[in-house]
Amino acid sequence: MMTAPRRKKKKKKKIDRTKKKSIMMTALQPCHDDADVDAVETFEGMDLPEALLRGIYAYGFERPSTIQKKAIPAMKTRRDIIAQAQSGTGKTASFTVGSLQLIDPSISKCQAIILAPTRELANQVASFIRAVTDFMDITVHACVGGTLVRTDIQALHQGVQVIVGTPGRVSDMVSRNVIDPTSVAVFCLDEADEMLSRGFKDQIYRIFRTLPESVQVCLFSATMPTGIIYMANQFMRDPLRILIQRHELTLEGIRQFYIQVKCEDWKFETLCDLYETLTITQAIIYCNTRRKVDWLTDSLTHRDFTVSSLHGDMDQRERDIIMREFRSGSSRILVATDLLARGIDVQQVSLVINYDLPPNRENYIHRIGRSGRYGRKGIAVSFCTDRDVDQIHDLCTFYSTQIEPMPSDVSDM
Ligand code: ADP
Ligand code: MG
Repeated sequence: MMTAPRRKKKKKKKIDRTKKKSIMMTALQPCHDDADVDAVETFEGMDLPEALLRGIYAYGFERPSTIQKKAIPAMKTRRDIIAQAQSGTGKTASFTVGSLQLIDPSISKCQAIILAPTRELANQVASFIRAVTDFMDITVHACVGGTLVRTDIQALHQGVQVIVGTPGRVSDMVSRNVIDPTSVAVFCLDEADEMLSRGFKDQIYRIFRTLPESVQVCLFSATMPTGIIYMANQFMRDPLRILIQRHELTLEGIRQFYIQVKCEDWKFETLCDLYETLTITQAIIYCNTRRKVDWLTDSLTHRDFTVSSLHGDMDQRERDIIMREFRSGSSRILVATDLLARGIDVQQVSLVINYDLPPNRENYIHRIGRSGRYGRKGIAVSFCTDRDVDQIHDLCTFYSTQIEPMPSDVSDM
């Protein structure tokens, strides 16, 4: 039997959502964890619609992960939620199943909107929903940029109950009145800290202000910097918080190494030396700019190494092909920008190379988390120069983790 998550006894100030401009403010408010959110140990125990439960089992999930045990029942209480869990621990199924259980199949209007920062991630989430709703009569639409607006409009006019999209295209569809927001019951942001910290804020706000007063807001990410939690407090109602401590964020299954070189120019030879190791598995190599991705891809190709690449300057059709090839395993090494730092789930990836150190601490966690999905083993290797080796030490301290000098026998691992 499902037990309802405990509610906070203390009475809290209600946020007036008619003043929705508050999403733009970052005024600081104290907040605390609900570490004691009740967990439901099995999917059957969650009192899910029968067809959804069947879909979950057919997908191959047997038992819920820690975040799923807490977040799915928590979403059923209709409370706003801020949920954090390590990368690769099943947040997608948490907010998708969490949302799907709330949908009334007899109402054809849109009832859930889920947003993600990249088209690739939104498509991945939509694919998961399609698979898990195989036995349900629910319509899902991926509403992402880089596709024909006309096609989106046609699909949405037919009545879609769940929309998964990127903020730009969804806000466009809302402002064209193609999405009817009046029945939206749940609004989820995947990679919420990224969504609220970057250029998406205005678009998200534009969507949010059209939603019913009663909408349930759910934020999910592996990283939740304090500033984001404070900001979220401004537009969420007494949110239930499922948070983890910083030192719990790095996964034991992912071994972390660094290779220090004298200067930038030396990185390339170092990478070439590692190539054989890379091909043993599937790997992602991160660079910080699109130009550098192009340069590194060209340089490796000149040396007769086979790699593919992906970044935001590329045409969407090409992006889709590259992703398909990488997901299928027909391409094995992908050079990419932080476009692929978050959310992308390719279980065979067990090696991540930071050719450039990430621009912020959060993306370090997200990048290395592309390996070691759902308890698998992974290796992350960060290249650094004498000049930026301090960043490695900073990451070790910040996350209370160990990033060791790379041993010579790494391919044996
Ligand atoms: P996160 O968003 O937390 O980084 P994902 O939701 O992408 O993680 O899930 C990571 C992987 O774990 C996916 O391949 C997913 O299919 C798998 N997974 C999630 N939940 C379960 C489960 N309950 N049982 C087995 N595998 C799961
Ligand atoms: Mg995710």
